[in-house]
Amino acid sequence: MQRTLSIIKPDGVRKQVTGKVLAMFEEKGIRTVALKMLHLTKERAMGFYKVHKDRPFFDSLTTFMSSGPVVVMVLEGDDVINRVRTIMGATDPKKADRGTIRNTFASDIEKNIVHGSDGPESAATEIPYFFSEMEIHAQ
Ligand code: GDP
Repeated sequence: MQRTLSIIKPDGVRKQVTGKVLAMFEEKGIRTVALKMLHLTKERAMGFYKVHKDRPFFDSLTTFMSSGPVVVMVLEGDDVINRVRTIMGATDPKKADRGTIRNTFASDIEKNIVHGSDGPESAATEIPYFFSEMEIHAQ
């Protein structure tokens, strides 16, 4: 059993596809064990994406991520990190497979609707960035 951190980014909330994105995870048998809506400050978005701090898109990305509310969640299941990444599709929606979240809903490489931890180490730091153990409800 594995856990991952996923975020419906501000563009996903604005486009009112939160429910559709959650359904795409649920339909694959992935369980939601924690969920909340937050409006990140620029500083909190910068902390979350600090591995990208030297990338040219860091300022734009963190401005976007703090531009409106997001939905953060902890998802649980067998091999859930890779499965969520597959359901999300490639970072660039133009390269994402048909039927993936990003292919279906995203408009560009930055505003790509959804985040999912890219490995066990990322999940282990990203989950406590938003949730205490008391807020995670194992099923
Ligand atoms: P992910 O794991 O698929 O989310 O991709 P990365 O970890 O490589 O990048 C983190 C986030 O930064 C992506 O989801 C995008 O929102 C954004 N991003 C990645 N590459 C680019 C880029 O080339 N330009 C811009 N503007 N944003 C990018």
